[in-house]
Amino acid sequence: MFYKITLKFIMLSFFFSCNSVAQKKESFKIQKTEAEWKLELTELQYYVMREEGTERAFSSPLDKNYSEGIYVCAGCDVPLFYSKNKFNSGSGWPSFDVEIKGNIAYTIDYNIGVARIEEHCANCGGHLGHLFNDGPKNTTGKRHCINGVALKFISKNE
Ligand SMILES: [Zn+2]
Repeated sequence: MFYKITLKFIMLSFFFSCNSVAQKKESFKIQKTEAEWKLELTELQYYVMREEGTERAFSSPLDKNYSEGIYVCAGCDVPLFYSKNKFNSGSGWPSFDVEIKGNIAYTIDYNIGVARIEEHCANCGGHLGHLFNDGPKNTTGKRHCINGVALKFISKNE
């Protein structure tokens, strides 16, 4: 009996350790199964946020949105960017020079063969976009290049 349980435990921990190698090694406050995310997110949101995909450039209505407000995570509503830090990068994706500190976490990815700084929501782990160093020189020089579908805009007037 004891042997059986131990074996089960070993198999279980083996399974989890394999799993954690494939995924980000951080633990997030919001924990949902992939099935739950699939129910809550649109197909495009799921592709971008859970599979690190990228929306088509110039496809997001938020790219050209310059209303006053706050941008929150589409997965968990945590605030990520203020509208005052948004700028037109011409890239076709919503771009910001400053993030709301503590709510975004970073990894390095090699998805396109070169190292890029990947950024994701520190609360739910949802992929947001990438961080580049070609932002406005007069502020931070950073360009947070964010998929519009990973964001929800909350207008100041609402
Ligand atoms: Zn989130």
